[in-house]
Amino acid sequence: MIGLSSEPERLACSRAGCSVTADFRIEWRNPKIHSADRVKVWLACAEHREYLENFLSSRDFPVNVVQLSPEDAP
Ligand SMILES: [Zn+2]
Repeated sequence: MIGLSSEPERLACSRAGCSVTADFRIEWRNPKIHSADRVKVWLACAEHREYLENFLSSRDFPVNVVQLSPEDAP
């Protein structure tokens, strides 16, 4: 799981079993349980970005994919 503020963010892919450094941040929420200002964040490597994005969009969740720049790394 991704920590919110104080936890040092580990920039690894959120796909189960994948520990590759993430290149993308996937921002999403479940409109049924999350309010409009609530955003969940997954991290994805290039290989799993499409998988995770499709996983969310197939459930009609709003999805926003942001490419991480190297300057964002801790
Ligand atoms: Zn991955």
